Amino acid sequence: MAPREHCGLCGIAGTPDSVPLAAEGLFSQQHRGQEAAGLMAHTGTDLVLHTGTGLVAEAFANLPHSLMSSGAMMAIGHVRYGTFGSSVALNTQPLAAEVGGCPVGIAHNGTIHNASVLRRNLQREGAIFQTDSDTEVVLHLMARNMAGSGFDVNNALLASLEPLRGAYCLLLLTREGLIALRDPLGFRPLSIGRLPGGGWAVASETIAFSVCGAEYVREVEPGEMLFMAFPGGGDPVSTRFSPAGKLAQCIFEHVYFARPGSLVFGDSVSQTRTRMGARLAREAPCEVDAVVPVPDSGTFAAMGYSRELGLPQDFCFTRNHYIGRTFISPASSSRSSMVMRKLQIIPEAVRGRKLCVVEDSIVRGTTSLTRIRALRAAGAAEVHMRVCCPPHRFGCYFGIDFPEQSSLVAYGRSVEEIRELLDLDSLAYLSEEGMLSCVTAHPSQDYCTACFSGVYASVPDGNPIPPRCGRGDA
Ligand code: AMP
Repeated sequence: MAPREHCGLCGIAGTPDSVPLAAEGLFSQQHRGQEAAGLMAHTGTDLVLHTGTGLVAEAFANLPHSLMSSGAMMAIGHVRYGTFGSSVALNTQPLAAEVGGCPVGIAHNGTIHNASVLRRNLQREGAIFQTDSDTEVVLHLMARNMAGSGFDVNNALLASLEPLRGAYCLLLLTREGLIALRDPLGFRPLSIGRLPGGGWAVASETIAFSVCGAEYVREVEPGEMLFMAFPGGGDPVSTRFSPAGKLAQCIFEHVYFARPGSLVFGDSVSQTRTRMGARLAREAPCEVDAVVPVPDSGTFAAMGYSRELGLPQDFCFTRNHYIGRTFISPASSSRSSMVMRKLQIIPEAVRGRKLCVVEDSIVRGTTSLTRIRALRAAGAAEVHMRVCCPPHRFGCYFGIDFPEQSSLVAYGRSVEEIRELLDLDSLAYLSEEGMLSCVTAHPSQDYCTACFSGVYASVPDGNPIPPRCGRGDA
């Protein structure tokens, strides 16, 4: 199975600190991928690649000092979240290749959902693939388009985008400069910021700008390519490769995936989540002794929920910060023990109290069930749950890693049936309309809600079956 990527990108241009800044930008986006990290730098003469598996700190532990202090004026970096069934080392990004004799590095966030069809066609024409990544398809298409584009890498890239379907934010490094682009539907976020001493930062989430000292300028527009000519100090050149039209920005970035402190799709993640909690309080209030956040993803929503109802917010779970974001294995028994390894109960905050737990989302339900059981075992008088998005009933073609549809707890179940299964006193989800009312930078119709509604902006040809992905983490 080809890996599905919902990764993090950071590119730096126009400063001799591009390598350390890109590394910092990746550190701050570690939550977007923990499987591998990589960086490619433009030293003026060469494009130098460094990749490694694991967290950024592990992957970059042996990053050569000579590269760190090379004074390279441009760098692109990637943190990878992959799924099982693919070789970690082979699929680590940036991918490097020679395209029509020109060295190119490419880093990708999203899923090109027709990649397997494109790949088969390319293989029939003789292409030899080195990875099973959808990203490599772009390199092969570029190689084929080089001659027809007068061996201009940017034009070859532009000619290669037309057949791509699905989600792709791309960063490319070439001898000529750094390229950042976003697919026409804008599934995944990508923004550009200005560095204080001149130069540019491009990142999936603007939290990377905070650590690089960059000032947010704007989103890279869906269907827009930005080119920063080496060494990168000048203004980026913008090319629209697709006219402005319908957008399908992933609302789940706001619900769960992105980090509070970031802007995605032009909105603050923390403010959106706080508004979602407040809206949920209006839609489904609860009479309890305390509102309980699930750290960390439910924290801001719980704050909004409790403030709106004038209820105290109490921590009943304490988080072990030293195990990172645990990947949860598909077997639900081991998933449950890993959930409790990450979060433990604070018994004195629970005993004899009526509690309302605020969750960002319920996917399979195993995480919630484990937490609810632990609260009951610690003597909670009542356990209610409020969820800051609608029930998840469909898979994602665009890079969010959900389990197969039949494993979704809301698949084929009513909210009342889920409540019973999870042993809750009450359960309510935020409505789709309520959720969309909480983002302000774009109108509601500019967001993809397919995992809740089953309405997909783009579906793989001949494959209208909702996708399955490998595993989740919590
Ligand atoms: P579960 O219901 O056991 O599948 O776990 C759901 C929890 O995992 C949610 O509360 C989120 O915090 C987190 N989560 C939601 N979606 C994903 C995803 N696609 N990948 C990893 N974790 C997720």
